[in-house]
Amino acid sequence: MNYTLESVPCNICESDSHHIISAKGKGGLPTNVVLCKNCGLGYLNPRWDADSYMSFYRNEYDHYYRPKILKVDTYKKSDINPIEDRLKRFGHFPDSANTILDIGSGEGKNLKHFARLFPKSSLLAIEPSIESQKQLSEFGVTTISDNVDNDWELKHLDQVDIIIMRHVLEHFMDPLSALKKIRKALSNEGVIYIAVPNNLKPNKHLEGNWFRNVHTYYFNKYSLKNLLRLAGFEIMNITEGDQHNRHEVFLIARKSENIIEPSFSTEDYSEQLEVFTNQLKSDNRISQRILRILKQIRKAIR
Ligand SMILES: [Zn+2]
Repeated sequence: MNYTLESVPCNICESDSHHIISAKGKGGLPTNVVLCKNCGLGYLNPRWDADSYMSFYRNEYDHYYRPKILKVDTYKKSDINPIEDRLKRFGHFPDSANTILDIGSGEGKNLKHFARLFPKSSLLAIEPSIESQKQLSEFGVTTISDNVDNDWELKHLDQVDIIIMRHVLEHFMDPLSALKKIRKALSNEGVIYIAVPNNLKPNKHLEGNWFRNVHTYYFNKYSLKNLLRLAGFEIMNITEGDQHNRHEVFLIARKSENIIEPSFSTEDYSEQLEVFTNQLKSDNRISQRILRILKQIRKAIR
């Protein structure tokens, strides 16, 4: 398969002005991480185009990132589900839900859990992986699209009561336009749950693991707030990490009546730049130390 690269402006503020952070990521696939100098959003630029990514997700993604998919379902009733726990902890767990949509559901672990909480609800998924789609249909989930950028929302206007987006927004080609579609599908009382890696608290090593060619965006609490505002949401809670995952940022939001203006700040940009710069330096020191130890071991063996 031949993959094609494209250049893109910032998805939030449309600026082309960016600072290059790194050209390396997990697995050696093209991973050009930049930071928007105007609003501080991290993103890949240049990156694979939409056709390249779609082909990768359909055919190769599961093998790279979801090796467990072929194993048996290990779900236990006693497992605490982080999404349920967080919705309840912050007082936004819905009393009822007729329709639940999981975007990027994978094999449907979260949908299975929510089907037990709301046994009468219709379960919907947006999922590109053909293997995952098969598993979803086996327990009654309807895959309404294989691509969030299609016009799937037109058949589900104001219909969905819970929308789950767990570690999926950072994979999107155009998060702003996708969130606008998602807003149209959300019912008036509905809630959306979003969790993404927190780039203000990355888990080392950046170039060996954190930066990934499938992660087209690198969000933090500032860029998420701006993005959600532009898409017409009101954030009810946003939290950086908890006992379930210290390195993610998650939020619960609902439709906003009015568009709340985003706020762009050079301080937000500088804070993110400093986190990445310091982590890259520290990763580099650790790599150098490991190389020195390996050299010593090799010498000793000889
Ligand atoms: Zn920007």
